[in-house]
Amino acid sequence: MHYDLQGIFDALLEGVVILDHAGGIEWLNSEAGRLLDVSTELMPGKHIESALGDDHPVCRIVRSVRRTGRPSIHDEVDFPRRYARPLPVDVAVSSLAEPGPDTRAPGIAIALRDRSTARSLREEISERERQESYGHIAAGIAHEVKNPLGGIRGAAELIGLQASDERGRKVSQLIVDEVDRISGLVDELMVFARGDRLERESVNVHRPLDALVDLLELDRGTKNIRIERVYDPSLPEIQADPARLQQIFLNLARNAVQAMEEKGGTLVLSTRMTLEHRIVNADGRPVPTVEISFEDEGPGIPADLHHRLSTPFFTTKRKGTGLGLSVARHWIRRHDGRLRFTSSEGSGTRVDVDLPVHPLRPDEATARSPEEAR
Ligand code: ADP
Ligand code: MG
Repeated sequence: MHYDLQGIFDALLEGVVILDHAGGIEWLNSEAGRLLDVSTELMPGKHIESALGDDHPVCRIVRSVRRTGRPSIHDEVDFPRRYARPLPVDVAVSSLAEPGPDTRAPGIAIALRDRSTARSLREEISERERQESYGHIAAGIAHEVKNPLGGIRGAAELIGLQASDERGRKVSQLIVDEVDRISGLVDELMVFARGDRLERESVNVHRPLDALVDLLELDRGTKNIRIERVYDPSLPEIQADPARLQQIFLNLARNAVQAMEEKGGTLVLSTRMTLEHRIVNADGRPVPTVEISFEDEGPGIPADLHHRLSTPFFTTKRKGTGLGLSVARHWIRRHDGRLRFTSSEGSGTRVDVDLPVHPLRPDEATARSPEEAR
């Protein structure tokens, strides 16, 4: 029986590369081409160091296997890519002894396995656990702080009523105002507590997006900022809580506008059905997903800040609360959606919200009311 070996290797989930004794690429399958970010057809005959650059991690591992003669296995090595984030790849490199006595250096076999799905799953789990522990802390603080605040407010009002001069009344009003401010902050924190029920209905996401334009105009500092809308008119309505969507969109749009406050620029709001980043249900099947993007021309977000962005109270602004993104992320998660950032320093920021068109599970079964959660 005759097999098409190239076809078989191309069907593998593993990337495979064979080098000759001098380090020339003899052969590779299509998965290896994808992981190494090179074209499979153009590679054979090239030296691996000139094909990938001699500081590519694979080249370093190949050199060490040549030196020691021993196979070498590395977990989750970051492979650089030209137009995307580095890819985590497991790498196994071993020498291929040729049959018979041979004084030349042996060839080399390289096996590669994409680990990005495992890594993003792990990241998602630890992010979820983090959010959950914020929820517990926030609910605890909210509970402890909210009750005495009521007492303080009442007492301050009483003092104000009994004050005989203007100054006394002013001071008591000051206390009342500040207590109200803290109460508002505590209410915002409460959204992290679990059991926040969604009032779902059919929503055309373009409605809350349109409403943004008016809401943003009420903010100061939007004069030199243009808002452009690129909507997909065939987008289906989604089952969501319109008030929460409004809050998510407003928090994201405000950040975009604030990022452009100094130099001005354009905020592009766009919508589409997403194909690439579809959300998966409990069975791992992709479900219809809409994507709403906020693209600004601000200074961008340095890569080393990305993982801290949705941490409550993380802010780089003088008057920021650092709650906008964590609140947005919370409500997106309650809709079984996802929040993604694409940004580097100096190149503007794109924030994508992915939301499933239909709920992934019956809401009533999982949600509890805030009262029950307390
Ligand atoms: P706040 O807006 O109160 O600072 P957020 O949670 O909304 O809190 O945002 C946290 C931080 O994330 C901001 O302080 C800012 O550093 C960064 N950030 C968020 N969105 C953008 C954006 N579009 N461009 C640049 N930086 C952003
Ligand atoms: Mg904000």
